[in-house]
Parts: sequence; structure tokens; C-alpha cells
Amino acid sequence: MRKYFIAGNWKMHKTASEAVALATDLVKELKAGPHKYMIAPSFTALDAVSKVVKGSNILLGAQNMSTDEQGAHTGEVSVLQLKDLGVQVVILGHSERRHTYKEDDSMINRKVKLALSHGLEVILCVGELLEEREAGKAEKVCEEQTRLGLAGVSLEDLKKVTIAYEPVWAIGTGKTATPEDADAIHAFIRKIVADMYGAAAAEAMIIQYGGSMKADNAAALLAKANIDGGLIGGAALKADTFAPIALCK
Ligand code: PEP
Repeated sequence: MRKYFIAGNWKMHKTASEAVALATDLVKELKAGPHKYMIAPSFTALDAVSKVVKGSNILLGAQNMSTDEQGAHTGEVSVLQLKDLGVQVVILGHSERRHTYKEDDSMINRKVKLALSHGLEVILCVGELLEEREAGKAEKVCEEQTRLGLAGVSLEDLKKVTIAYEPVWAIGTGKTATPEDADAIHAFIRKIVADMYGAAAAEAMIIQYGGSMKADNAAALLAKANIDGGLIGGAALKADTFAPIALCK
């Protein structure tokens, strides 16, 4: 039986003190929550939020990291620096990193392997653009991003990977994939994982949905057999919009 994993990606929002205030509210509100939780503030707020979530049932996430452990990489943040702040999970391959910052699958794969080698959990984001969906290529894109993102990841390390299916056209747009459409892609991704790692690993794989998930559509999405949680952007920025999703049964 897979456990729902509800994660908030705060993107480039909130000062450290605003992030602390939200994290403090969430620690209280989700205290008895039945699911797995993570919040990913900006790098600048990680240290402060780390102290708030310590000992709670909310994991600390980062939104990205460098391909390298250290070195001359101006403006980048390394896995060692994240671990030093208490980060437990890192989001990799988010569509904003893929499309705005031109991260390709091989770069994302290097990051995935580096994060796992340091014991971090990874949320690997995959998902098609609107034109790719309209051209009937949604499965092809998700297959490629899944296979290339996970290339070289061992069966043991796969246990620390969550896949987030995020159709790019649904992110921050208010358009949500229908539960049926989302579930079909989730089932397809699970088939790819089965092909790569076997049926048991695929059955255990947590596959989150992301793309305008809100309190009023979360229950219908989460009711689907292959949807195991959510990666939430906009609705994660306030306790009164995130908590109802996080506490959704
Ligand atoms: C995201 O960026 O991962 C996301 C799903 O954003 P939103 O919930 O705002 O669509």
C-alpha cells in the first residue's frame, strides 16, 4: 500500500521570516496528518525553516541543486551545502528548470545520482508541454524523461525517488489535467518503471501529480489508483490552501 506524499514547492516566494511563519503554521496544522509531507522553501530560507520543521512530520526540501559537489560554479548550491542545512529531499527536473533554465535530461540525471549518492531523497519531475500533448507525444516525453532521469540509478536507490508527473500546461495556469487523464499517464509511467526495475519496484513507486492542484480538485485526483500525492506550487503558499490538500483523505 503506497502512502500519499504531499509536497509544497514555494518557488521564489517568501523572505526567510515569511517562510518561518508559514512553516510554523504548517507544523501545527499537519501534526496529526496521515500522509508524508515536505515543504521546499527558497535556498535563502532553508536554514531558518530547518529549525522550525526539525522533529516534526514535515521533511525539508530544496528546489534544485548543482551537478557538482563543490567548485567554481557561481550562483549554484551544492548537495553538501543542502545537507549541512538539514535538507532531506531535493526537487530535480522541475519544468521551470527544464524550460526556462534549459536543464536537459543528462544534467538532471547527474543531479539525481549525486543527490542519491549523498542520501537525499529526490522528487524527479517529468511532464509534457502543451504542444507535445496536442501532438500526441505526452507518453513519449514522459517515458524519455523518466528513463533518462533514472539512468544508472540502482534498485536500492530507487526507493528514495518519487516521480512527479507535472503536465507543463497545467502548472500555475489554473488548468488541471482531468483525474482520468492524469491517472492514465501515471499508469504509463508506472509501466516504464516496471520495465526498468520490475513489478515490485513499480508498485512501490510514489507518483505525485502536479499542476494547479487545489483543495477543490485534490480529492478527485488522489482517488485515482495511480496518483499517490501532489507536488503543489501556488496552493502551497498559504496554510489555509495547503493544509486542506495535505489533510485530504
Ligand atoms: C509546480 O510548480 O510544481 C506546480 C505544480 O505549481 P502549481 O501548483 O502552481 O500549478
